[in-house]
Amino acid sequence: MTNDGFLAGPSPRQLTRQVKIGRVRVGGGAPVVVQSMTNTDTADVLGTAMQVAELARAGSEIVRITVNNEEAARAVPYIRDRLLALNMDVPLVGDFHYNGHTLLAKYPACAEALAKLRINPGNVGAGSKRDPQFAAIVDIACKYDKPVRIGVNWGSLDQSVLARIMDENATLAEPRDAGAVMREALVVSALESAVKAEEYGLPGDRIILSAKVSSVQDLIAVYRDLARRCDYPLHLGLTEAGMGSKGIVASTAALAVLLQEGIGDTIRISLTPEPGGSRAQEVVVAQEILQTMGLRAFTPMVTACPGCGRTTSTYFQELASGIQDYVRAQMPVWREQYDGVENMTLAVMGCIVNGPGESKHANIGISLPGTGETPAAPVFVDGVKTVTLRGDNIAAEFRAIVDDYVATKYVKKAG
Ligand code: SF4
Repeated sequence: MTNDGFLAGPSPRQLTRQVKIGRVRVGGGAPVVVQSMTNTDTADVLGTAMQVAELARAGSEIVRITVNNEEAARAVPYIRDRLLALNMDVPLVGDFHYNGHTLLAKYPACAEALAKLRINPGNVGAGSKRDPQFAAIVDIACKYDKPVRIGVNWGSLDQSVLARIMDENATLAEPRDAGAVMREALVVSALESAVKAEEYGLPGDRIILSAKVSSVQDLIAVYRDLARRCDYPLHLGLTEAGMGSKGIVASTAALAVLLQEGIGDTIRISLTPEPGGSRAQEVVVAQEILQTMGLRAFTPMVTACPGCGRTTSTYFQELASGIQDYVRAQMPVWREQYDGVENMTLAVMGCIVNGPGESKHANIGISLPGTGETPAAPVFVDGVKTVTLRGDNIAAEFRAIVDDYVATKYVKKAG
């Protein structure tokens, strides 16, 4: 907070240990990393490799795949090879539940091909089997120098931990409510599992924690507590966020509060894709959360007015949507050729009221004519009006102006 009471921006990131996942660094002051997860059958080598490639092209810096049976474990090294053949060195994380200890022991090539193992302490084994099976996975992580995410989830919370915390709660003079007990059990499960992993030999700088729930307020409370009680890097995500705008809004509401407080080193948005929709939407949303908060820049941002009764045509909506799709489609090429292009800002405005003003604030802005205005669209480049577009070719001419700006403004990377 500044002296005049305004928010000055995000709090400094809480300094955690740094964990290396393949070539990606998480925590320790590194930029917040974007992750995603496939929904293909991992045993389908080609299908999974193609989806990992799609997610990586969209900007996912780490991709998790489920390793749920022998066929999946056998497939992992082949998936990795296919990706390397495409020149895609994206770190793969194996998601293990129930049988991770046997799969990893039986398929060492799977362990070698993965850049990180994810263990859910609630699903690692029941009763007396839990600790030895957890230790077996940690042993394999140590043997192959792999970091581990200890990923607690309230849907599969370790019942022995929950029962113990409930018993302790019952002895308190003022017992906490059921929600507080559940949150404490999540945090304790993550922290105790991390301590156990270190006791079994895993170095502290190879551990990442997560404790996911599906309620926004619970997620914020749990991660604030985790951040206060440890210095392991934290993986943020609202589990089972849902579909469409509900999933996006709920994830953004929860993660934005935590990121603003400097909490979180890597994020994943758990969206349910629309039938036939792209899995990569969760990557786009994760990037947009980080970019709109000013934490990272991935792709040029398009500012567009919402439209109102002053512009009855849908033309400016089509132009805004078209240019947004265009810059996103160009980014894989631009990223290789131009430094800093991801910071470019564009504005597409519907009429003269805010059009010229907003357009001047962007690197390139266009102010389309509202109802009854002269059919002309002035274009502003770095705040200066450079040309006025008219006629049926405005979209193509505007794209050409953007291309020209990128080629002249952003320095080409060497080589
Ligand atoms: S810029 Fe014009 S069209 Fe767009 S919302 Fe404002 S007044 Fe309406």
